[in-house]
Amino acid sequence: MAVLFFLGFWLMCLAALWLWKKSLFIATWREPYFADTPVLIESDDWGPGGDFHGERLTQLLSMLAKHKDSVNRSAVLTADMVLAVPDIAKIESTGQYHRRMLDTDFPIIYKALQQGIQQDTLVPQLHGMEHLNGKAFAELCQKQDPRLAIARSNKGWWDWEKLDSPLQGHYVDGSTLPTQAISSVDAKALVANAMDCFAKMFGYPSLSTVAPCYLWNDEIEKSWQQQNIIAIQTAGYRCTGRDQTGHYFQDPPMIRLGSSNRFAQTYLVRNVMYEPVDGKNTPDSAFTEAELAYRQALPVSISTHRYNYTRSEEQCQQAISGLDQLLGQIIGKFPNVRFLASPELGEFLQNKTNHIVNRFNDREWPSLNLASPHRKTSAFLYRLYYRHRKLVLIGYCTGLIFPAWLICKTSS
Ligand SMILES: [Zn+2]
Repeated sequence: MAVLFFLGFWLMCLAALWLWKKSLFIATWREPYFADTPVLIESDDWGPGGDFHGERLTQLLSMLAKHKDSVNRSAVLTADMVLAVPDIAKIESTGQYHRRMLDTDFPIIYKALQQGIQQDTLVPQLHGMEHLNGKAFAELCQKQDPRLAIARSNKGWWDWEKLDSPLQGHYVDGSTLPTQAISSVDAKALVANAMDCFAKMFGYPSLSTVAPCYLWNDEIEKSWQQQNIIAIQTAGYRCTGRDQTGHYFQDPPMIRLGSSNRFAQTYLVRNVMYEPVDGKNTPDSAFTEAELAYRQALPVSISTHRYNYTRSEEQCQQAISGLDQLLGQIIGKFPNVRFLASPELGEFLQNKTNHIVNRFNDREWPSLNLASPHRKTSAFLYRLYYRHRKLVLIGYCTGLIFPAWLICKTSS
């Protein structure tokens, strides 16, 4: 009798919830759910640097090569590439913007990247032509702006990460706040030039991209589309600029994996932070985030910037051994782990191929498997649980949390 009462009560609750949140439930259900566990390692800012970066990268990739997934593919770094740095001496003498290019001016790093591509432990992805706004940089250089003192005192390589944060944006001019979006003509030319250089350096165009400092707008997406970019890597939001006080302006503030923009480009989302040099993340905290992704049948997409590996030797070794530990835990605990790179996930989500293909070395692997209805239902409930506090509260008040818990328990 009591069972019948509860079943009737829950059905009524579900009907009311459906009326209230129908569009949310449908949108959440239509997101991609994976039976495999795709694991991506997204690493921003590789590009021009000190020669020792080549050696550090090789050490990192050697560690990745030891980890094999369920189809015997190695762990692979999606290296988000910066293609150039300003040529300060030339800018100062001419007043115009000039570049030093990754392939010709930084051959040791370029060679390490090429080896990673052939070894299948690295897939390049366009980050930006440079990690700053060239026009604004040239103007500040001419004015001998004190914010460029470090750059101007070192005519060879210097670390753009040491620039004032607003100056590191690429698709905005951050020389004064609020930032100004670059013009559509500049955007088109900049992206076309970067794509051209990228294809020449790596033998294939970038199918996906991530904007420096996560700063980009519709105009940039349009320029990317004109260059056949199909997927955009995000941290779960887009920032179009920074206000007077430097705060980022988010639009949209929430992006889900697999959603599309007006140019039919697919958004990808990083959901695991492994930036140990910042002192915020450890292999254990990253694994906890990976577990949340796994329960929701989402790809595990790890964010780990170059600077974790290019500062002191000790920091680099700690970062590599921590990532080693994290990947070991992921392979040990999750079923059907599949290492892949972001452009490959982008192609899969757009149904472009029957296989997973590394376009940079032509190797192929079986396609990914999507979740069965039972696994999908459990992951769907987890997505609602982790994202919507009100629904969780209602679940506890009505007792609906109990059947939901039962479904989740029996699916894993
Ligand atoms: Zn960056």
